[in-house]
Amino acid sequence: MSKQYYTKILKADAQSIKLAGELIKNGELVGIPTETVYGLAGNALNSNSSDKIFLAKGRPSDNPLIVHITELNDIYGLVSDFPVLAQKCAEKFWPGPLTMILPKKDVIPSQTSGGLDTVGIRIPSDITARAIIKAAGVPVAAPSANLSGSPSPTEAVHVYDDLKGKIPLIIDGEHSVVGVESTVISFLENGIHVLRPGFISPEDLTEVTPNVTVDDGVIHMLAENAVVKSPGMKYRHYSPNADVIILDGDLTGFNRFICNNADENDYCMIFDDDILKSDNQYVTYGKDSTEQAIQLFSVLRKLDELKVKKVYARCPNRNGVGLAVYNRLLRAAGFQVIKV
Ligand code: AMP
Ligand code: MG
Repeated sequence: MSKQYYTKILKADAQSIKLAGELIKNGELVGIPTETVYGLAGNALNSNSSDKIFLAKGRPSDNPLIVHITELNDIYGLVSDFPVLAQKCAEKFWPGPLTMILPKKDVIPSQTSGGLDTVGIRIPSDITARAIIKAAGVPVAAPSANLSGSPSPTEAVHVYDDLKGKIPLIIDGEHSVVGVESTVISFLENGIHVLRPGFISPEDLTEVTPNVTVDDGVIHMLAENAVVKSPGMKYRHYSPNADVIILDGDLTGFNRFICNNADENDYCMIFDDDILKSDNQYVTYGKDSTEQAIQLFSVLRKLDELKVKKVYARCPNRNGVGLAVYNRLLRAAGFQVIKV
């Protein structure tokens, strides 16, 4: 049996940040805001803390944790190689929502790296996240603070809904400004490989090198025997209880499909300015990719609150951060896409 906690939610201020830092330093877990999504933060150098993270989330133990630091200098103690391309990315995109996979040093326990000899590292830009990491005085492992498989949390209350009783403290720092998890990249001989899309898009990365490739797993279902470069890609993710089906096409095609095929209890998930031509109930998730990224996970959670059984979603455009929105929605939908 794991320990039961009375879970406090405290507004981010000097006192609560200090408390969060102390708890993390002492091996406890804290739900913290970051610019991407809320993170479940523990001491990345303490294997017990990492064990606790996997247990609290119900996360498969081979799915590695991202390590968060606040100063570029801190990276040299954690990785055995920091190639020039990675240095350029750090210069351009840190602090910010970019995670780089690099060969790890032994100080990072294998629990944190999911048994891999590499580690994902990032410097967040969120002021509260940075203050908490500084207060902890250690690198902080922080996966998204949701139960494994459910939509990532973008508000403190989402963390509470998923992890109450399992952790002592959640710091409430308002709604995450990006709304989807960090872009995860690895480095090839002379290029960058995107393992998970995020706010920093493949187009953005071409400012560092023209050689940017996007992993097949980003928008395709991986074959069962495929070699997975980023373990998180093989797991069911971001899923509400509802059956999500993406309708890939324009609004006219969407409306035609709904009018001809949807049952009266089916929901629609549409863009803000869309006009639905049927009486079906609907939720909206923003008018452009940036708004869709911010709202996607809360809307997926809201569908559960509404006890929706089936939802047809408008397909986001796949440019810029839209690729990240599409990647998350595709997983929420279990890759069910119908061309309309
Ligand atoms: P989360 O912590 O929930 O944002 O998930 C972290 C993501 O980063 C997962 O998809 C992991 O597979 C990926 N990741 C973290 N560390 C590594 C690594 N060393 N190699 C490849 N992927 C990683
Ligand atoms: Mg996650």
